Order: sequence, then structure tokens, then C-alpha cells
Amino acid sequence: MSSDRSWMQHRFDERNNITDEYKDGVKEFIDFALKKKDTHGNIRCPCNECGNLSFHQPERVTYHLYRYGIIEVSDKTQLHTGHRLLGDEERKLAKYYVLGCHIFA
Ligand SMILES: [Zn+2]
Repeated sequence: MSSDRSWMQHRFDERNNITDEYKDGVKEFIDFALKKKDTHGNIRCPCNECGNLSFHQPERVTYHLYRYGIIEVSDKTQLHTGHRLLGDEERKLAKYYVLGCHIFA
């Protein structure tokens, strides 16, 4: 995974279309995540709805990341999904997963 994660902040262009930069970032993420897929071919979904806690098929994760955006990891005290604050353990997992994918590699 590229160390440059700025694509996560650039989901929409001025016309509210998903940017190519974001699509490329998502694709790169999916390629990486597939190395850690489970026996059913599912991977963790780091979208704002799933908060890295759910597993889905790559196509669905791609859709989620386009639709909901990728989980925010700017500050560990503010890391949360769209609905609730994550617990300590979940937060650590999500943060490592998004920021330091090497932990699962
Ligand atoms: Zn999701």
C-alpha cells in the first residue's frame, strides 16, 4: 500500500463524482486486503458504515468505500464509525489496519 494516503480525503471532485485518485486508492487497498482474505474470499471493510468490523466480498467493499468513504483515523480519540464511537480494542485494530497495514501483512 502506498504510504501516501491523501487519496482518502479526495473522494469527490467538484461535480460530486468519485475521483480517479480515490478509485486508484481503493483498488490498491483491495489488492492489499485480498492477501488477508478469509476462506470465503471476504475482506475487512474499512468504510464509515462498517468501521473495519465487517467482512464482505471485495466488490461490496469497493462499493462501500465509494458510497460511505473510508474510516477516519486522524486522531485515535475521534476514531468512530458513522454511528458510534469504537471501543479501545476495535479502535486499535481499525487504526492499525488503515494506517499501518503491515501489521496484518
Ligand atoms: Zn463497509
